Amino acid sequence: MLLSYTFAQLGALFQSNPELWKTISLTQLDLFVRLCVAFRVEILLYARLDFTSLDPPTVYFLPDHLLHFLAAMIDVPQSVVQALWKETSHLVWSAIGATDVLTPAERDLVNALDERGFYATAQHLPRYQYSLASTMLMPPVLWCTHCLRPLTSLSRVKVTVFSSSTGYRATKGYSSSLKCKGQHLEFQYH
Ligand SMILES: [Zn+2]
Repeated sequence: MLLSYTFAQLGALFQSNPELWKTISLTQLDLFVRLCVAFRVEILLYARLDFTSLDPPTVYFLPDHLLHFLAAMIDVPQSVVQALWKETSHLVWSAIGATDVLTPAERDLVNALDERGFYATAQHLPRYQYSLASTMLMPPVLWCTHCLRPLTSLSRVKVTVFSSSTGYRATKGYSSSLKCKGQHLEFQYH
């Protein structure tokens, strides 16, 4: 399901920061929002929020690897990505339950960038933590259901995914596992 926006939503965006909108096209804006929706859990994982809240989260900054990734995908500087995030994060969180927001060609581009080791350009975390593919398998919760602390100790392995949404064509994915610091739980998707 691809996302749709109303003219009112887009009009409000364009009025909010006219200088920003001079630098990007509607096509770039649309792809940016859909990519952020596709990687929503990744954004939350690095934001270390109170995951148990039902309110839409407030995330002021995107993690470094997503800044690199989004800048490459829509072909703008990282400063523009950060400005875009500030203006559009409410649209990203309001797309409740949206899946399959990327086209097959866009998914292939995500995976091609990963093959080049693109996301490892920032150096302060291990390579696997920067890995992004068109399918990201995540634990069902990001917090410990015993002590409610955010789960940490991310580990990530490459997997091959067969899904009805891609016509059962083999596509690339990463499966992530997380642990509670209090050793209450270890969630593994794989
Ligand atoms: Zn715990």
